[in-house]
Amino acid sequence: MKISRIYVYKVPLPLEYPYRLSGGRLYFDKLDSTIVAIDTDEGIRGWGEGCPWGSTYLPAFPRGIRAGIEELAPQLIGLDPRRIDFIYRTMDTALPGHPYIKSALDMACWDILGKATGLPLCELFGGRIDESVTIHSSIPTGTPEEIIKSIELVQEKGYMIHSCKIGADVALDIERIEAVNSYLPENESATFDANRSWLMDEAIRVMNAATDRISYFEQPCETYEECFQVRKRTVHPIILDESIQSYGNVVRASADHACEAIGLKVGRVGGLTKAKRIRDFCMERGIRMNIEETGGSIIADTGAVHLAQATPQMFLRATWLCHEMLTVDTATGGARNKEGKTSAPEYPGLGVEPIMDVLGEAIAVYE
Ligand code: MG
Repeated sequence: MKISRIYVYKVPLPLEYPYRLSGGRLYFDKLDSTIVAIDTDEGIRGWGEGCPWGSTYLPAFPRGIRAGIEELAPQLIGLDPRRIDFIYRTMDTALPGHPYIKSALDMACWDILGKATGLPLCELFGGRIDESVTIHSSIPTGTPEEIIKSIELVQEKGYMIHSCKIGADVALDIERIEAVNSYLPENESATFDANRSWLMDEAIRVMNAATDRISYFEQPCETYEECFQVRKRTVHPIILDESIQSYGNVVRASADHACEAIGLKVGRVGGLTKAKRIRDFCMERGIRMNIEETGGSIIADTGAVHLAQATPQMFLRATWLCHEMLTVDTATGGARNKEGKTSAPEYPGLGVEPIMDVLGEAIAVYE
């Protein structure tokens, strides 16, 4: 089997509500997604998606993905897409670094492998677990009242874990945490995600003031080293998110005992192939994970859910469904929200069928 053609689609994804990240760093009302289709000479087509969470969240931006695909796509024509590791080495040789731009192409190859073998991706990632996967929300920052209002909206959809974005103001952050913790029922929990916005002293002051309930705190400071210093001076479990960009980052965090959990974002670490390796390491080292996408529509979300669906519950905190926050749907099928839980489709491959009217015309074709 050989890759015969690669199509690239640029798809705007409007958000239902504008989003404000911690510290007001990021404010936007739509995402810019890149969806790819890979055709083979045997008539199997694979789909993939790459979508950064805007341009200011990570060293990743939407046009970067399309520029990277322009470099990589010609190198992949004629190769066997089922040879996932060989494909990845070819991409890493052709263009070292830039992991996020490889994710959509990698995902499309996995989709082809699944379709060629008749297996859903979760079976290829180690095997489906019986339980469905818990979804956590992503709550934009705001006043305590605004945060609780946003939580109420997602509680109606069944969500029970809430990732609340806070940061940038110590007194207000303590207020936000107290308000959320006293609002939430016993069976729901919050993650307080600072998205790198605290300096070390601010993180220590806020986290040590939160004494009524053990809570997860996520990516308190900009760098790994700062987060590690905070880890030594606080008692709450820490999730490293933006600091986890590669396998090596997780190995170091594990050796240092720098975190209890990580945010494993598929696009950020370079796609499902790299995310699976990190997932396997975390299971060996007892590190809990949120397995999810950086952003995107149902196609990207479904890839991440397949990996979560093959991860034993004891290692998994939750996944996140970005597509729940959008006003357009790029495909039928896929991993949907059912009362705060989701599960990977049972069809071969990703189990999504893109809606061509939504994708529009391909902006580039490589053959
Ligand atoms: Mg985060």
